[in-house]
Amino acid sequence: MTQLGGSPRTRVRRIPEKAVHDVEVLHAVLDAGLVAHVAVIDQGQPFVVPVGYARDGDTVLFHGSSKSRLFRALSSGAPTCFTVTLIDGLVLARSAFESSMHYRSVMALGHCTQLAGEEKARALRVISDHLLPDRWHEIREPSTQESKATIVLALPLDECSVKISNGPPDDVPSDVDRPVWAGVVPIIERFGEPVDAPDLIAGTPVPDYVRTWSR
Ligand SMILES: Cc1cc2nc3c(=O)[nH]c(=O)nc-3n(C[C@H](O)[C@H](O)[C@H](O)COP(=O)(O)OP(=O)(O)OC[C@H]3O[C@@H](n4cnc5c(N)ncnc54)[C@H](O)[C@@H]3O)c2cc1C
Repeated sequence: MTQLGGSPRTRVRRIPEKAVHDVEVLHAVLDAGLVAHVAVIDQGQPFVVPVGYARDGDTVLFHGSSKSRLFRALSSGAPTCFTVTLIDGLVLARSAFESSMHYRSVMALGHCTQLAGEEKARALRVISDHLLPDRWHEIREPSTQESKATIVLALPLDECSVKISNGPPDDVPSDVDRPVWAGVVPIIERFGEPVDAPDLIAGTPVPDYVRTWSR
């Protein structure tokens, strides 16, 4: 079961008031993100790989090339740190020191399991559904060869933490009288207008699930 910040490694020490211990918030942050950064140490060198992912209950799923040495290391049980970061705004304080960002971030520690067979096929669909619901029903499913070329990993959310930063700038009292604007500039993620592939069969319409998908 997920215990947020419940281990010595995941207890938030720096600005602990930003720590969140509600599993529903963990799920909401993971469901709102599209990209995770997954760390792996290869021959003493840390690497951080950006990946698409999806949450599936108390597990996160992501995939990569069977030829990737980093994915092979993760599939053989190398320890990892999986992070998701959502940036919600710039906090413009009256000093450089107090200037910061609004964010929601998750850090999960653990070891991945490589999925196979039905579990692997299902996980690929779950990842696709997270990025764009309904797409999977229209596109060609992976061939045996394509499936072989893909490693699908599951990381249980057993040891994680959530940190959320929000609120107005927290200027020191002696800066408040400075004649400089201070406040928050929100950052909003949205999809743009779909662009047809150059080799699209003429007249193929943009599906409704693409037009209406917003996050
Ligand atoms: C978009 C963004 C920008 C940031 N910019 C800066 C910056 O410029 N400078 C800076 O010092 N810090 C920044 N932070 C905060 C930074 O992520 C760390 O929280 C902070 O540096 C303290 O790190 P620490 O290892 O000393 O924390 P500690 O509190 O000692 O870490 C203990 C445990 O708390 C958890 N934890 C720590 N940070 C996070 C986190 N962000 N999300 C989830 N769990 C966490 C982990 O489980 C970690 O193992 C930023 C965060 C985000 C999301």
